[in-house]
Amino acid sequence: MNKLSATLLATAAMATSAQAGDVRHLMGPIMANPTPGQIEAKCAFYIGEIDLRRDALLGDQAAPTIANTLERIDNMFGLSNAAGGEFTLYRQVLTTPEQRDAAADCEVRIDSLYNELGLSREVYDRLVTLDLTDADAVTQRYAETLRRDFEASGVALDDEQRTRINAIKDELGELSAAFARNIANDKSEITFTLDELTGVPEDFIASRELNADGSLTLTTSYTDYQPVMQYADNDEVRRRFAELYDLRAWPENDAVLAQMFTLRAELAQLLGRENYAQYALADKMLQEPARVRQLMAEVEQAARPIAQNDYARMLTVLQDLQPGAERIEPWQGNWLSPKTQQALFDYDPQDARQYFAYNNVRDGVFRLTERMFGIEIREWDIPLWHEDAEAFEVIENGEVIGHLLLDSHPRPGKYTHANNVHLYPGGPGQPPLTSVVQNLPKGDHATGLMEHSQVTTFLHEFGHALHGIFGSNGRWYGQYYLDVEWDFIEAPSQMLENWVYDYDTLATFAVNAQGETIPRDLVEKMNKARYFNRGLFEMAQLGLTNTSLRFHTEELPEDLGAATRGWRNEYTLIKVPETSQMQAAFGHLDGYSAYYYTYGWSRVIAEDLYARFVAEGINNPAVSMDYRRAVLEPGSSRAAGDLIADFLGREVTVDAFKASLNKGME
Ligand SMILES: [Zn+2]
Repeated sequence: MNKLSATLLATAAMATSAQAGDVRHLMGPIMANPTPGQIEAKCAFYIGEIDLRRDALLGDQAAPTIANTLERIDNMFGLSNAAGGEFTLYRQVLTTPEQRDAAADCEVRIDSLYNELGLSREVYDRLVTLDLTDADAVTQRYAETLRRDFEASGVALDDEQRTRINAIKDELGELSAAFARNIANDKSEITFTLDELTGVPEDFIASRELNADGSLTLTTSYTDYQPVMQYADNDEVRRRFAELYDLRAWPENDAVLAQMFTLRAELAQLLGRENYAQYALADKMLQEPARVRQLMAEVEQAARPIAQNDYARMLTVLQDLQPGAERIEPWQGNWLSPKTQQALFDYDPQDARQYFAYNNVRDGVFRLTERMFGIEIREWDIPLWHEDAEAFEVIENGEVIGHLLLDSHPRPGKYTHANNVHLYPGGPGQPPLTSVVQNLPKGDHATGLMEHSQVTTFLHEFGHALHGIFGSNGRWYGQYYLDVEWDFIEAPSQMLENWVYDYDTLATFAVNAQGETIPRDLVEKMNKARYFNRGLFEMAQLGLTNTSLRFHTEELPEDLGAATRGWRNEYTLIKVPETSQMQAAFGHLDGYSAYYYTYGWSRVIAEDLYARFVAEGINNPAVSMDYRRAVLEPGSSRAAGDLIADFLGREVTVDAFKASLNKGME
């Protein structure tokens, strides 16, 4: 064999190994219960594989092609996304602090590598000279999005500026890890006598261990906090617990946030933006702070009168219980809301609670989505890190199209909220792996009764997971569902929440310990009560949206707590207590930075999408399959606005959202 043909062969082999599907076998399998050493080794492995591909890319003297450039870049992003998801899951769920810390360290390293790749001039230079004339539309969009992302990260700046940007991003990655760690490690406890806990459901108290003196010590985990705030009759108990809850990770996280906001402002300035919000919104559906403010004004205009009506109705109920009460205190809202729903609509969430045991709810959510999307979900027998963790296969036409991990119950040191963590993208021969980490009661009717709101949360997170399974099988790793515009990402899950208000759906799984199905009239009352408090809710959300935007458009305030209280109070009708330092545990200030509005905007989209289901039958599989194909499956291979328009046949509007809010006046 002469030298030339050897070179050609080598080039051909290289091109083959750069096929997009080729790195899939390097992702996973998930390690059941890895030691810190195994986590570090896996981290080093991922980094090594990414480095190999970068070296091959930069050492390639051939003119840039889709195979030798775009596919290699995509493989690097595919590997770093997979690694990021895997270590995030380990950090959230593994059982010892040493394991979680090792995973958090890897997250920081992967994040740093990802940022460095995104600022690589050499990679960018190959990308801009890539000939795309014969490429399909999806590939063209991908290359253009990548170019835009490179440019937005400052790839065109000089070496010194790019070095500074890298350093800032590394530091932000470390701050983000510290912020989450401080929240997870908050060990605040509060002790009540059983007498003080009058009103709190007995099965909740029975599921906890009492102290020797008969009192009960609770933590600031949401599973402990929520039942007390909703059911305890004693105002002082709720006031004390709320005060402690709003001090989580404070004061330590104030320092973290201050550094974070300062560095973000510097980053924005280096990138030629007026503030960080402008930078963070550039690749979102709404694109700029001015449009967010416009949306906020529109929502406020619709929500404020409804919130005032909600407030007045709730105050009347409070005055019956506490004659002379002049206003609703923040620790009274969650407790008064069900009382008002009872007074106005004869609806008591406690009546519904008996029908929602975790095991039934999980199975019911599975069966619902099976019917909607033509899939089957069955157990998957693999070793996992804890007995509470569960694994499932998602099957379509006899073929496994996705894997799902569920870790649904609280334990010390675990992530304290609910979220979807996506691990591996999918493709031919290897289905995607996604996970839901949440904190719900465990078991059947004896121990696992859930609030209806928790059922909603489960379905919501499961909706993200399904989006992950359907929307991660595209041509390019970098066009999976998590790369959609982030102000769209909540819409599919928020829309899905509607189904746990549907009697026909609930009747398939909501049964009490006696085996009786949830009564139809209870579901009707639940639906009447549903729109009560939406006005107050939207106003409270606007307060948080305002906080998220203002921290990223204004000078760093001296007192973060005072600023947060002030910004929330511009909107919320139930005033924030002077002791509140909720910013310290407001995880979205890290993850969502300036675009917390994404929840509100997603509700606008969700209502609009749902309107088509209402018109054509919410349990009509033709509509849900159409929705799956038009909105979920494309991932981010097309602009979110186009996906929505495909399904609706027109652009999204706020009309359905406003109509839904107005139901609160009925
Ligand atoms: Zn969500």
